[in-house]
Amino acid sequence: MFGIPVYLHWSVYLALAICIPLSFIAGIEVFFMLFALLTLISFHEIGHGVIANIMNFKIYKINLSIAIGHCFYEFPYYKHEDIYISWGGVLGQLVLFLPTLLIFLWQGNSSFGPINVLILFFIILNLLFIIINLLPIRGLDGYLAWQIIPHYYNLLLNKKKTNNHSSNPKNIKKSAAEITEDIIRDLKNKI
Ligand SMILES: [Zn+2]
Repeated sequence: MFGIPVYLHWSVYLALAICIPLSFIAGIEVFFMLFALLTLISFHEIGHGVIANIMNFKIYKINLSIAIGHCFYEFPYYKHEDIYISWGGVLGQLVLFLPTLLIFLWQGNSSFGPINVLILFFIILNLLFIIINLLPIRGLDGYLAWQIIPHYYNLLLNKKKTNNHSSNPKNIKKSAAEITEDIIRDLKNKI
């Protein structure tokens, strides 16, 4: 995908093996549910990748499973870079959410079942994923993303105190614990 290797977890192949025959019995909507779920997870991970790419970090690969995905990229040196990339997932999901919501508000439900499946996944489930993912819990994007508030608050305080315009106060180095987490993530990437 855009020159970035995408690896599918075995759960995706298993889901395809179940959903394709099931589509003939229960209707094509079953296949569209799987397609919509994978599209949603892909947009989330691409969002992380795009922000990391804008910040000139190398993207190694994207892993997709039936439940979650993971975008592997070169780990950032500064705290604010990590925070920006953590917002990328939600931004990626909004790229799906906003146009689908506009089309739904304009056209309403479709008489074609699979379109309604896409509307359900790209609006309702998407919004639910965004809310859960933004909870400030370790392991979710929200854990890093909301650190944008204390980060910029501290910058504002420091700027007022020092009033030093020669250095860039945004460039706060990450803590030892945060760098250790990066190294562990990088090792997982090499496995
Ligand atoms: Zn994420």
